[in-house]
Amino acid sequence: ENLYRVKRWGEGYFEIGSNGNLFVTPDPNNTDMRIDFKSVVEEIKQEGIQFPVVVRFHDILRSQVERLNQTFQDTIKEAEYQGSYMGVYPVKVNQMREVVEEVVDAGAPFNYGLEAGSKAELLTVMALNTNTESLTILNGYKDQEFMRLALLSLSLGRKTIVVIEKFSELILLVKIAEELGIKPLVGVRSKMTVKGRGKWASSGGERAKFGLTISEIINAARYLEERGMKDSLKLLHFHIGSQLTDIRSVKESINEGAMIYSELHKMGFKLDYVDVGGGLGIDYDGSKSTNDSSRNYNMSEYVADIVFGMKQVCDLEQVPHPTLVSESGRAITAHHSCVITQVVGEIKAHSTGINTDVVAGEHVLVSNIRELVDIIDTHDNLQEIFNDASQFKEQALDAFKLRVISLEELAKIETLYWQIMESVQLKIQSADFVPEEMQELEFNLSSQYLCNFSVFQSAADTWAIDQILPVVPLTRMDERPTVNCSLVDITCDSDGKLDKFISDHGISDVLPMHSLKPKEDYFLGLFLTGAYQDVMGDMHNLFGRLNEVHIFSHDDDPEDFYIEEVVKGSSVDDVLSIMQYHPSSMAQTLKKSIDKHVASGKMKPREGVKWTDFYENCLKGYTYLKV
Ligand code: PLP
Repeated sequence: ENLYRVKRWGEGYFEIGSNGNLFVTPDPNNTDMRIDFKSVVEEIKQEGIQFPVVVRFHDILRSQVERLNQTFQDTIKEAEYQGSYMGVYPVKVNQMREVVEEVVDAGAPFNYGLEAGSKAELLTVMALNTNTESLTILNGYKDQEFMRLALLSLSLGRKTIVVIEKFSELILLVKIAEELGIKPLVGVRSKMTVKGRGKWASSGGERAKFGLTISEIINAARYLEERGMKDSLKLLHFHIGSQLTDIRSVKESINEGAMIYSELHKMGFKLDYVDVGGGLGIDYDGSKSTNDSSRNYNMSEYVADIVFGMKQVCDLEQVPHPTLVSESGRAITAHHSCVITQVVGEIKAHSTGINTDVVAGEHVLVSNIRELVDIIDTHDNLQEIFNDASQFKEQALDAFKLRVISLEELAKIETLYWQIMESVQLKIQSADFVPEEMQELEFNLSSQYLCNFSVFQSAADTWAIDQILPVVPLTRMDERPTVNCSLVDITCDSDGKLDKFISDHGISDVLPMHSLKPKEDYFLGLFLTGAYQDVMGDMHNLFGRLNEVHIFSHDDDPEDFYIEEVVKGSSVDDVLSIMQYHPSSMAQTLKKSIDKHVASGKMKPREGVKWTDFYENCLKGYTYLKV
């Protein structure tokens, strides 16, 4: 029931089926459609698409957009809040065209808009958010071109609000607006005193990178007034960090933001919108706690704290309820995509060892450690055996360095040592108390499963900020997992590994997996990768982007799915071109070398042609392992 905590982080989308396979229900309004991941894998294989593959469930994206908007609408009704909700999706969280288009389409009935944080994002948003009822919110640092684009968008009838991050931006905006004769829509971002808790806490507080202090906000409002643009000031914005782990920081920031809004209103600056930024967290580790990879609240509580919190302050201060804006990105996209890959090998903690039979004249260290093997089943002090074995192994290493024992004797001692440790580990599994130094045995004896993917491409935050992402085998979950392991990727970088996992009793260094069977694929899914991870990946080791499949439900058969689109991942050709190589001239250079070999008789002409083709095909091929 609690296996890999799937139910907890799955939010109703993912669950383990009675056949032991992982299932996804991408559309909560159509629970008839439960897709077995095994059939997704089969379909991908049939289409001839190589793994690793990013799988996107567009229905999940749509469902999250609807959930957020519907929750705001329902809560506003329940609270008798006088304003409405007009959310925006911050494209930085996942800028993939298909993702943004789907979000815009699903959000259309709610007038859900878009947020951009850079010039490139603004150009994108201008092309995609054509609904004149929804908002376009512009954050981030801006230059002249940025301001001109924003004013162009505004003059095309889009509700485009430029959020001022530092005072000089306001002067620039007003100057260009005056030149063009357009009245801008202006927002101000407040530097909040409340700090979020969690990994992004530095987005708030006085040392925050973005935003205006209270006195700068007042000066900005007065500056606009002096320029005859008092009513251009429309929005108050704040964002105290992504992945807010503790609901208290949400409550506190709403309270602070509502007070600033109310005071501005009383000073005669009648803003229409309060934009509470992002921060709605995801329960990556399924603990529903204030752990960095979790949060102690859900979407409904988050929304209720915003709506009721804002209403309470506004009522006390006797100011109108503003239209509420939020910029949730993580909560919209995290669940919709995952990475599917196979385990391509096992790296055991120690080798199978060598023959340890007694030989005449062997060193006493060898016979001493063998004696421990003989008594382990009858001896009642495991710690003594553990200590003695560890000491013999250390002594053996010194003895080898001093040429007192041979390489073969050292190998025998190592073999016997690992045999002892395995027995100790088996015995302590049922013990009530395990001494601290023996607790590391589980990790030291664990295997490493080699997986066909790159941490730097597909799970950058696990490496950069120790973010935990759920990893689950796609099949065999009705079998007891017997192998404790960590996961390593195929980059030649020792940091390319996952070694923090969700276990039934908290966070663990090892993940219980099933033993690999010869000639049987073992597929894993890396989940909740749709926010940030999907688009932050880098080119480490020139692996590049993954093949992608987009899964949709069949309109005519609610129990069936189909691959609507395949987006090819990077070929070697692609990644080399980005690095300024010319793959065609590389192929010519290699061909010349092969021709020379053929001409000098070192290679047969037929072989030469074969090798030339092979090199060219590899250049065109996928960067990941062909399994
Ligand atoms: N808005 C702003 C200004 C941000 O900086 C961010 C990201 O940190 C977001 C929205 C999205 O936040 P989240 O993904 O936590 O919803």
